[in-house]
Amino acid sequence: MVDIVNATKCFGEACILQSLNLKISDPEIVGLAGTSGSGKSTLLRCIQGIELLNEGTIQRPVNTGFMFQDFQLFPHMTVWENVTYAPLRQANNQSEIKECLKSAQELLQSLGILSQKNVYPHRLSGGQKQRAALARALIMHPKLLLCDEPTSGLDRSTTKSVIQILKQVHEKGVALLIASHDLHFLCTLSHRIVMMRHGSIVLDVSTQESGFHESSLYQFYKTGD
Ligand code: ATP
Ligand code: MG
Repeated sequence: MVDIVNATKCFGEACILQSLNLKISDPEIVGLAGTSGSGKSTLLRCIQGIELLNEGTIQRPVNTGFMFQDFQLFPHMTVWENVTYAPLRQANNQSEIKECLKSAQELLQSLGILSQKNVYPHRLSGGQKQRAALARALIMHPKLLLCDEPTSGLDRSTTKSVIQILKQVHEKGVALLIASHDLHFLCTLSHRIVMMRHGSIVLDVSTQESGFHESSLYQFYKTGD
């Protein structure tokens, strides 16, 4: 699914990813933790190909979706236009267009924002923007979905619904790599937690193991042991 070998990414003198290795074999939910500036977003951007590595290689599915930290919805397009823009450009015939419009309708319905379909992003709440961005990613049928801070700025109940939605996405066979500051959110959702520090992965644990405790991660997060 994902195979990252010796990934190094530098901005000038500063190497943000340092010979980083990470493998995701199954369509699992992997939480990417680490303090601010540890390189989580840079790693996701390199996986997506928005940033190029200085050294190393990254293999990932062609169909990889990305949900940005600030959603990056097109401001001049409605929710409906945001979601259908890319697939309509790719559609080759009338039946593909029909299929795309049907998927958009179903996705917006299942994410609970169908009533907002004609609204522009600046009129949406944080949670609604988040769902619109998710619909835009999911309509492309990704095998891997990269999510950067999907709950930043959301309240507790919206965060809960994000957890449900991302779990449903996973149940459809999609692998998820989710960067977040929120360890509790990551532990609730993920099968595996990967912790970054100074551009490397310093911890890789399964949350499914009997000995796993969320508290051990906090300790790790604080002291760096
Ligand atoms: P946060 O939790 O705050 O989102 P992060 O773990 O996602 O942090 P990154 O955004 O990957 O961290 O940033 C890691 C480091 O890389 C930071 O020091 C940042 O300033 C630097 N950086 C990221 N993008 C660039 C860029 N385009 N040019 C120069 N430096 C950059
Ligand atoms: Mg970030």
